[in-house]
Amino acid sequence: MSTPKLHQETIDQVSQRVDLVEVVSEHVVLRKSGTSYRGACPFHKGTNQSALTVNPSKQVYHCFSCGASGNVFKFLMEIGDRNFNDVVIDLAQKYSISVRTLEPAKSQALQQQLSTQEQLFEIVGLAASFFQHALFSAQGQAALEYLTHKRQLSLETIQTFQLGYAPAGWDTLYGYLVKQKRIPTALVEQAGLIMPRKTGDGYYDRFRDRLMIPIHDTRSRAIAFGGRCLDNSEPKYLNSPETPLFNKSSVLFAMDKARDAISKNDQAIVVEGYFDAIALHQAGINQVVASMGVALGQVQIRQLLRYTDSKKIILNFDGDKAGINAAERAIAGFKDLVYGGAVQLRILTIPSGKDADEFLKDKSPAAYQRLLQNIDRSEGGFLKLEDSIYSDPETVKELVHTAPLFLDWQIEQTLIGKNLNQADQFQECTQAFVKILNEIPDGSLRTHYIHGCAQRLAQLNSYLIPRLEQDLRRQLRQQRWYSHKRVDTPTSTLQIAETQLLQIYLHFPQHRPLITEMLEEADICFSLSHHRQLWQMIIDCPLAQNAENLFRHLQITCTELPELSGQLSHVLWLDQNAQVALLRPTAIIKAAIVRIQLIMTEKKYRYWRDLWEKIDLKNNPDLGYYYQTKIQGEQAQMQALQKQVEITFTDLVEISDDQDRDWHEASDF
Ligand SMILES: [Zn+2]
Repeated sequence: MSTPKLHQETIDQVSQRVDLVEVVSEHVVLRKSGTSYRGACPFHKGTNQSALTVNPSKQVYHCFSCGASGNVFKFLMEIGDRNFNDVVIDLAQKYSISVRTLEPAKSQALQQQLSTQEQLFEIVGLAASFFQHALFSAQGQAALEYLTHKRQLSLETIQTFQLGYAPAGWDTLYGYLVKQKRIPTALVEQAGLIMPRKTGDGYYDRFRDRLMIPIHDTRSRAIAFGGRCLDNSEPKYLNSPETPLFNKSSVLFAMDKARDAISKNDQAIVVEGYFDAIALHQAGINQVVASMGVALGQVQIRQLLRYTDSKKIILNFDGDKAGINAAERAIAGFKDLVYGGAVQLRILTIPSGKDADEFLKDKSPAAYQRLLQNIDRSEGGFLKLEDSIYSDPETVKELVHTAPLFLDWQIEQTLIGKNLNQADQFQECTQAFVKILNEIPDGSLRTHYIHGCAQRLAQLNSYLIPRLEQDLRRQLRQQRWYSHKRVDTPTSTLQIAETQLLQIYLHFPQHRPLITEMLEEADICFSLSHHRQLWQMIIDCPLAQNAENLFRHLQITCTELPELSGQLSHVLWLDQNAQVALLRPTAIIKAAIVRIQLIMTEKKYRYWRDLWEKIDLKNNPDLGYYYQTKIQGEQAQMQALQKQVEITFTDLVEISDDQDRDWHEASDF
């Protein structure tokens, strides 16, 4: 939803009303610990169950492991991949706070938009109940039969998933919603439930004589439908179009029902179809969502990763569709995460080409569970998958079945049917390996796989491995069509010094007078534009005397300006490294000021020297002399500052008890 800028009053009201502990608790189990709360951090991979601290009085959270920190807005933005406005509006609606925008004219439009959204939720909800009701009526008999017999679903499962039936007529739903419930046609159309007749007179139902599977958002509100035909008509599955409520690439089917199980089992299974997911849930395997036939996107993957500490996602493809291309298509949207190691992606291929639903009926939920348990046993190993070994259900129990890591699986797939003793096929495999290896950013993971590939290519001739490894490396260097983005841009001394001053100013209020005093004395100001902007905001803040208020005010203002907020996040939210670096605030302030002074002096020195070099000395001897004195003056200043830099460095190395206490006060939040 694109929204105009919100009024500060609305933001303040929301910020006062909402409780961070309550919000975080919806995602993480929190335990009271002294004056604060602790729990597992949803933003990083790790096993520390109390890395995340939530401070109820300051309404901030901080993870001591990954450094994630912020206020309630930041928490919701990061966990839901949403922007500031959406988060505030959502909270405002939750707490019945009226939403105002900066331009009053737009307020009304926004209210309109929001109320439309509410109405759409209601309409889709009504349609879901209508379909549910129809399933148990005489017209729905065949559909119900299909569910209970063909799909072997229990009535309980049918209820849980709110499965329904869209009757065969052209306008049964239309009649119910528009004629009976008096809902405006335009809204029903917007909800994706009816379509205008080509003749231009009236509307007809989108879903007719179909089994209806409602798609819910994470709050279990119906937002769209998947409709399956009951005869052989095409398409087999018809989905709702994109609507203001439904965006295919950001929703996962059954996410609302899988969330708790995903975090409990520390793994998420992604299947392709609705009925695979429903069947697995019925079998008590609840950490399952369905991708609804589209390639998975970043938003969906992030949703899943949020609930698993080990970032384990298992893709379960239909056996008949398994193959490198299908897998590559499925992961195209989050390749970076996979190859960068942010996702532990594994591929589960159901034995003998069955999909999950068929496998459950054929074998048992316990057999599926065993497949899942065995996944863990292949840590980076190269295990060959052969369907034939699963033909006997007893063998399944005994044999270690492993869903390999995506990369191992890819490598295995490349080798299937290849005879490495033949030069052309050997070459083909080598090229395919180079392509796979090229995707892996530099690092130990890449080294590991280079070795693995060389091993595969060498077959039993282990003496060949080092040579093949060398050869793969050479080819990788040659084919660097892919360049890995550098995340860490080198940070300048100036940037570091300015950042430190601002961090101390914001997070260690007792040192504010010293900073202001020293800045004035040295006659320097911040030179990086986003730092200057922040400093201006500090000066302008009417509440600046009150440390608590200032910090809150800035957090809110900055969260609202995404670009500035991005540039300033290292100042506003202290990560662990920054906290360690700021152990001795007084010494750091002095050192930072001296370094900024030194940089400024060097700048002035270069300025005068440039002028002096360009000048025609014969015609301007006096000016030449003037420039020379300036240059010498700056040089002397530089030497003096250089000495001070050395002194302040010694200060930094020595820890005094006094300064140590600062650190504990600041970090106890
Ligand atoms: Zn963390």
